[in-house]
Amino acid sequence: MLGLMQDWPLLCHRIIDHAAIYHPERRIISRSVEGPIHTTTYPDVRARALKVAQRLDRDGVRLGDRVATLAWNTWRHLEAWYGILGVGAVYHTVNPRLFPDQIAWIINHAEDRVVITDLTFVPLLEKLADKLPSIERTIVLTDAAHMPATTLRNAVAYEDWIAETDGDFAWRQFDENTAAGMCYTSGTTGNPKGVLYSHRSNVLHAMMAALPDSKALSCRDVCLPVVPMFHANGWTLAFSAPMVGATLVLPGAKMDGASIYELLNTYKVTFTAAVPTVWLMLLQDLEKTGGRLPYLKRVVIGGSACPRAMTKVFQEVYGVEVIHAWGMTEMSPLGSLCTIKPDYAGLAGKAKLDLQQKQGHPPFGVEMKITDDSGRVLPWDGKTFGRLKVRGPAVARSYYKVEDDPVFEPDSFFDTGDVATIDRYGYMQVTDRSKDVIKSGGEWISSIDLENLAIGHPKVAEAAVIGVRHPKWDERPLLVVVLKSGQTATREELLAFMAGKVAKWWMPDDVVFVEEIPHTATGKIQKMALRERFRDYVLPTAVAAAE
Ligand code: ADP
Repeated sequence: MLGLMQDWPLLCHRIIDHAAIYHPERRIISRSVEGPIHTTTYPDVRARALKVAQRLDRDGVRLGDRVATLAWNTWRHLEAWYGILGVGAVYHTVNPRLFPDQIAWIINHAEDRVVITDLTFVPLLEKLADKLPSIERTIVLTDAAHMPATTLRNAVAYEDWIAETDGDFAWRQFDENTAAGMCYTSGTTGNPKGVLYSHRSNVLHAMMAALPDSKALSCRDVCLPVVPMFHANGWTLAFSAPMVGATLVLPGAKMDGASIYELLNTYKVTFTAAVPTVWLMLLQDLEKTGGRLPYLKRVVIGGSACPRAMTKVFQEVYGVEVIHAWGMTEMSPLGSLCTIKPDYAGLAGKAKLDLQQKQGHPPFGVEMKITDDSGRVLPWDGKTFGRLKVRGPAVARSYYKVEDDPVFEPDSFFDTGDVATIDRYGYMQVTDRSKDVIKSGGEWISSIDLENLAIGHPKVAEAAVIGVRHPKWDERPLLVVVLKSGQTATREELLAFMAGKVAKWWMPDDVVFVEEIPHTATGKIQKMALRERFRDYVLPTAVAAAE
């Protein structure tokens, strides 16, 4: 017997309808790419998104067609997303920080028909134009006054493009499982892989992400998503914020410490989210200027492990609660958040910081398990670590145009490629990427733990730990360090600092000092490149073992 409730497909554009009807007073404040601050409202975003949909429809964009966006977080990008969604096309966010060849590969693989771009990326697209045969038209997110002369095919200023419509258009109606958005993961090995979100998965995920033990978003929040919309579905904030009617502050192209600080305080931002590198810049700026954060209440930090020192400074110096979060492009992207359960309510000081090193517990809609290599489920004791596997309504079941990828298991769990522990209260802690974990004498050493420890040394700016070949132990850890500018340190000094804080057999066998550590387009340490660089590195212990 079926239930007798209405069939109300979970379509993304219903979110902007809701925001426009019930939260018309809230503002969307953006730092425009052209420079000035721009302010609009949800009804206006919706009205202009309808024009985008109408115009795409007139240009022949149909259900399931892919429309690429190469753009910063601004009101125009938001309008474009909802317009694309409302005509049944697929927004395909392209990360402009990728190598140009990778951008071309991704656009060709997705077979995007239209590109919507910020002014910033026009020169990049011009250089790539010959390699992008599927692109029929380029829409530049600006007005006629700022439109550059360009060789791009059928290029038009966004404001002119939508001005040719009257907005008298009804959102298209279709099944909630229809494709809505697309985002490629960085693909540290091989080509990037496309994740294809559905309207249903996005709507459900936006609800999960707004829950009290997720981001706890409400219409009383002023929300600043520093995380770009092109990074892992924009951490779903383009959906969660309008869904609850939060005020939105969008940073445009400027994400340096001073620019973010200005937005945080001018607009009394209460909630913000980004990767650790962004917060490193802000905290450095605050240290220099003596700035304070009187309005900010919560900051979500994820994408890579949030250093303990960062949590401490945010909470103890600036009075801002840190929510450490973990997720992946394949998970829409949120998997877990470290909010405090009653079981841990009494924790303070060092013990609370210890807990907040964990990536936290999942919201409803994410199931987790850890297994060994043979698939056997491992205990939740906070110590045993294994492959972290997940499933849920907003978790990918396949990559776009890739058949039978083994990361998607037959019982529908997705192997995240992360290695983690889970404690008795369900708190997950990532100990490593499975390909980065150091396998020493049949046991695993967490590179993340060692990095977190090394970064605690006052002279260390950045640290990475990789496994290097060893004749006796198979692999042993090598610590690669970038010192803060003007500092000098010795190998012995760093090892002495770490000694006694981890098991003896986890201690790095050697330390090398480098000028720079390579990063991916989403700000993560490129372990592959480091492993390649130190492939033939001979550890002092290896020499001893060979003798
Ligand atoms: P990309 O590599 O394109 O940035 P994702 O954003 O999907 O792709 O990266 C997901 C991966 O980032 C996770 O599998 C995990 O290894 C890492 N990650 C994300 N959040 C955290 C976190 N809080 N702590 C440690 N690692 C994290």
